[in-house]
Amino acid sequence: MKTFLQATGSYLKNLQQLFWQNYCRCCNVVIAEDDKYFCSDCWSQLGYCFVDSFCRRCGREISAFGQLPDGCAHCQNENFHFDSIACAGIYKEPLSNLIVKFKLADRTYLLPALEDFARSAVYKADFFNSVDFVVPMPLHWRRRFQRGFNQSAFIAKSIKIPNAGFNTDLVKIRHTQDQTAVTFAERKKNLQGAFAVRNGHNFEGKNVCLIDDVKTTGATLNECAKVLKEAGAQKVFAFVLAVAGQKDKDN
Ligand SMILES: [Zn+2]
Ligand SMILES: [Zn+2]
Repeated sequence: MKTFLQATGSYLKNLQQLFWQNYCRCCNVVIAEDDKYFCSDCWSQLGYCFVDSFCRRCGREISAFGQLPDGCAHCQNENFHFDSIACAGIYKEPLSNLIVKFKLADRTYLLPALEDFARSAVYKADFFNSVDFVVPMPLHWRRRFQRGFNQSAFIAKSIKIPNAGFNTDLVKIRHTQDQTAVTFAERKKNLQGAFAVRNGHNFEGKNVCLIDDVKTTGATLNECAKVLKEAGAQKVFAFVLAVAGQKDKDN
């Protein structure tokens, strides 16, 4: 005979099945209760977004032998203020759709999946054991007010880097035009003087890991890394969920 607790438990489970179903976070088909986040089709499509081998200097996907001492074939002529970059994947569907949805609409629903992607990728980063501060890419207060949250701060808080503190002393002091609407040269110019560190910051001699959702041209990461180095940071690493602009022409 069922105990009262067993009977209550199965009653609650039936109720849950009646009112709550597990949906694929990507394509919205109903999935089994114990399927994790996505349907099998979306999991296999996502598999193509996660890279085994990426350039430690620019984050673009490269072949296993494509890493040269000064970057990869794509980035040798580029100048970066950050020392190294790591990423979870490349910015293409369906990962790109998840990141856009996360930023614009479905924060709480998508966060656990993106956190898992971020944690497993950052764990493999070369700099994993050398970080003093994890710093989210700041949003100007006006953008933050519109969106209600900073997506990079969610990612920064969720990755677990040993002994690294969460730090928000890098701030955006000037609102900038939407970066996707301008050319690469304009982006760089647009960003000059847009970031600063707070008085009383503690970046002197420290290794900082900047966190962002996407690297497109790298202009924003680069400008922030420059500001952090000017504030005395020893090394600046970058971690992003996805790297766009896989080919030079995409920039
Ligand atoms: Zn799906
Ligand atoms: Zn590269």
